[in-house]
Amino acid sequence: MADLATNVGSVRARIAAAADRGGRRADDVLLVAVTKTVDVARIQAAAALGLRAFGENRVQEARDKIPAVPGVTWHLIGSLQRNKAKEAVRLFGMIESVDSEDLADELSRRAEQEERVVDVLIQVNVAREPQKHGAAPEQAAALVTRVGGSPGLRLRGLMTIAPLLPDPEEARPVFRGLRELRDRLQGETGMRLPELSMGMSEDFEVAIEEGATMVRIGRAIFADRSQT
Ligand SMILES: *Cc1c(COP(=O)(O)O)cnc(C)c1O
Repeated sequence: MADLATNVGSVRARIAAAADRGGRRADDVLLVAVTKTVDVARIQAAAALGLRAFGENRVQEARDKIPAVPGVTWHLIGSLQRNKAKEAVRLFGMIESVDSEDLADELSRRAEQEERVVDVLIQVNVAREPQKHGAAPEQAAALVTRVGGSPGLRLRGLMTIAPLLPDPEEARPVFRGLRELRDRLQGETGMRLPELSMGMSEDFEVAIEEGATMVRIGRAIFADRSQT
């Protein structure tokens, strides 16, 4: 697990340098360690290194892992089907992938039944990739209003997944687009949207320069370089 400590240290240093370039503090960027396909022992080791937020993209895979790693916050970062809403509300502290009014309504209803309030981000398909989930940018205002008025949900901001491009610099307009959309939506709706979840292993530094407050990083933390 020595590799894990090295990777975490290196990712943290890169986050701090990118925050510095963007004129922000490293503490203003939450590192969400993405643990899909990663086993529980390795997740526990990551938690022991001080990581406090973890992300999974499927309820089914997260079901057994989450109870084994207490004391941290779990983020759902993958698309969610309505029939898993109840379980998602029990397992996750934050759901980053809300992209329809139907899903928002179901999550709120289930959260109220569980007597919980779940933190939520609205996922926006900024790059309009046909194969990707996420609301279209022009649908975001209605969704902000809907989630903002849902008693079981606490709207915290926006999330996007940039296209995977050979040069991370090419993703910059997507990250900037999410920030500008956030600024506009705050003006139009009067809702506060402080969180921007954007940036993964390949492009998180550019995302931070453009204002990310959360980065979702899997491979840069958990890849075992001794096997490559
Ligand atoms: C897998 C995944 C990540 C992490 O990707 P890496 O390239 O491993 O850093 C981030 N966000 C989402 C939505 C993912 O599914």
